[in-house]
Amino acid sequence: MHPRQRTLRTSATCSGIGVHSGKEVNLTIHPAPANHGIKFVRTDLPNSPDISAHFNQVVDTSLATVIGYDGFIVSTIEHLMAAFAGMSIDNALVEVDAYEMPIMDGSAGPFTDLILKAGVETQQSPRCYFIIKEPIELKAENKFVGLYPAPQFKISCAIEYDHPLIRKQSYAIELSEKTFETDICRARTFGFLYEYDMLKRFGLAQGGSLDNCVVIDKEKILNPDGLRYQDEFVRHKILDCIGDFSLLGMPLLGHIVLDKSGHAFNHAFLMKFFSQKSSWETQSCFSDLNTAAVCDAMTELPCIR
Ligand SMILES: [Zn+2]
Repeated sequence: MHPRQRTLRTSATCSGIGVHSGKEVNLTIHPAPANHGIKFVRTDLPNSPDISAHFNQVVDTSLATVIGYDGFIVSTIEHLMAAFAGMSIDNALVEVDAYEMPIMDGSAGPFTDLILKAGVETQQSPRCYFIIKEPIELKAENKFVGLYPAPQFKISCAIEYDHPLIRKQSYAIELSEKTFETDICRARTFGFLYEYDMLKRFGLAQGGSLDNCVVIDKEKILNPDGLRYQDEFVRHKILDCIGDFSLLGMPLLGHIVLDKSGHAFNHAFLMKFFSQKSSWETQSCFSDLNTAAVCDAMTELPCIR
């Protein structure tokens, strides 16, 4: 648990293709001051509009997590957000020259490498955490998300697919930079061949390929090198959850339990979390009143434009 906020030591750049557009995208991550949070800037648009990576800025969760306003969007932010959260980066400015982030290899591995390349700088300001006081749960049909008091950040996740290669998988992890790097960040996104064919027909997933997605047909994995972990699917769901929950704007200490959840349901949970303010509080490693006020101020939502 880091007592103080962290940012990047220097800037770092990578390029890749957008999974839906199939077009080349350039991405640069820059250091940012304390209490800045993670912000995205579209350098390809007039006046370079920017937006905070916050759950109340989310405009779509159907195929990826999309933030935006007034027709300006930044799409597919979840894997980069997972890398920032997994490596405990609180403040960064992300410049991107297209509407969607590069998909890279479909995991958060290349973004984690980018952060490691930039280096990490500890800042003076205290790091504030959400502390869970009582359980918060959301259930609908067969999906479930629960958040429970715990002294660390833990995630337990279960998935179930009617497919012989997946069936039921579960995984539980106590998150640290080390466990994120070794056990989670390289798990890739996955999809079924029939979904991929359908997306292509609708003009989506133009950049989708075996280089950035684990593709499964009726009984086998099409990627020639197979899986990176035997339970890569459930690990990727944990990766997505880390990215989704980072949209709360600061880290949390608590135990997240997921059953068959995804971006949309995680997002619905975050809205419930924020409406249930009596179930959590903010805290830092410093007990002075000024720090308490700063932590409280960080729970204010950015205005929706
Ligand atoms: Zn994902």
